[in-house]
Amino acid sequence: MYIKKGTLRREFRLHLQELWRRKAVKLWQFTTRPGGRQPAFSKGWREKQIDALQNLVIEAHIPVLRRWVKRETARVRTRFEKSDPRSDRAKEVRRILVNRGWERKDLVYATFDRRGRCLKVGRSNVGSKRISRQSKDISFWHAREVIVYFPHRKTKRVLAALECALTHLLDPVHTEIWPARTRYLEKCPACRDSDRIRSLVGELLPA
Ligand SMILES: [Zn+2]
Repeated sequence: MYIKKGTLRREFRLHLQELWRRKAVKLWQFTTRPGGRQPAFSKGWREKQIDALQNLVIEAHIPVLRRWVKRETARVRTRFEKSDPRSDRAKEVRRILVNRGWERKDLVYATFDRRGRCLKVGRSNVGSKRISRQSKDISFWHAREVIVYFPHRKTKRVLAALECALTHLLDPVHTEIWPARTRYLEKCPACRDSDRIRSLVGELLPA
């Protein structure tokens, strides 16, 4: 991973420099007379720096994720008119998928309101049945558009990664829980690199 954007790269370097500086404060003191009290390399502060580094990596990943989702999936869109009955929207998505022959089990979906804001990102491994059951859900009730993403790879492992990538990309209004990631599921490319940052800092600068 390489951070392309200059501002993000600079910010990343500043956090890293500050981490090193505080960790090595006793060494600096051999050559420089410290002016006043030196800030401590505390557990909480270190944790905050790592979080900041991880967030920068995720932000830098956004264009990469966009391309990754495009390459990995086929997408089916359903748009609704104002006059379409709200209680039917989730069922309508299923009807359109079935009509077009998209009766696959593994999918990720995203719903958008009339301002184009993402309301919800979810996944299913039982096909569009899971979608059609959500007629009363606020994220379908207020949906103007629903996009369903079908992974090209026929493996369940990729679903969690896809849901995670879309959650980074679309920043849905209703994210109660971040997509579950178990040992057996794939990580999204952004989380993979951000986890790597954590373990590298952990190795180099233990708390
Ligand atoms: Zn992720």
